[in-house]
Amino acid sequence: MTTGRLLVVEDEPSIAELISINLRHAGFTVLTAATAEAAREVVDRELPGLVVLDWMLPDRSGIALCRQWRSESRTRDLPVIMLTARAEEADQVQGLEAGADDYLVKPFSPRTLVARVRAVLRRRSPQALDDAVQMGALKLDPSTRRVTCHVAGVPMEIRLGPTEFRLLHYLLTHPERVHSRAQLLDRVWGDHVFIEERTVDVHIKRLREALSVADCAGMVETVRGAGYRLAALPQAVAG
Ligand code: CA
Repeated sequence: MTTGRLLVVEDEPSIAELISINLRHAGFTVLTAATAEAAREVVDRELPGLVVLDWMLPDRSGIALCRQWRSESRTRDLPVIMLTARAEEADQVQGLEAGADDYLVKPFSPRTLVARVRAVLRRRSPQALDDAVQMGALKLDPSTRRVTCHVAGVPMEIRLGPTEFRLLHYLLTHPERVHSRAQLLDRVWGDHVFIEERTVDVHIKRLREALSVADCAGMVETVRGAGYRLAALPQAVAG
């Protein structure tokens, strides 16, 4: 799983350490790399949820690495925050043009970095955060691992297996969009997994069964020939 797993690419050990400690305190799992090559290897093994990428690295610039990730389909959507000691506006523009989602100029406060990381994740991959998510009567709280659904105003707990929980978390953070089976495998099971697409159907079925207890099974829609979508149930007509 990629959720909550961040990569810090920084060749200055004291800065790498400072960033890592602060991100770990904020609840993230942190991997580090001191060179562009090492970073590329980490990302090739498993996509992290976000990369904090220093501009000046000993072997290659962070900008070049960011451009490369943006040019490849597997890493196109990888959230990236660039770090740099340079403050010139032209450099910032270059960083953003290379596809970085945000940009921080050194020195920065660790609190600012954590806030920016959370902001980028909220925008790009909200399933990596512990924020509770809700749609209609259905609510999922990653910090307590509880799913509840209000039926006639009464909260009802829905019990889900770990895969169904991750699946529902992903769907709730990306509602109203159609997800193909391949996309769900990538995002929920993790990339580089070799699982048949039919497996998705099995877990969707289990998710619906669990949600049917609270009459919410209809929220998980099958879109013929395309995949699945989580949609709000139509409001019940009063009276
Ligand atoms: Ca550096």
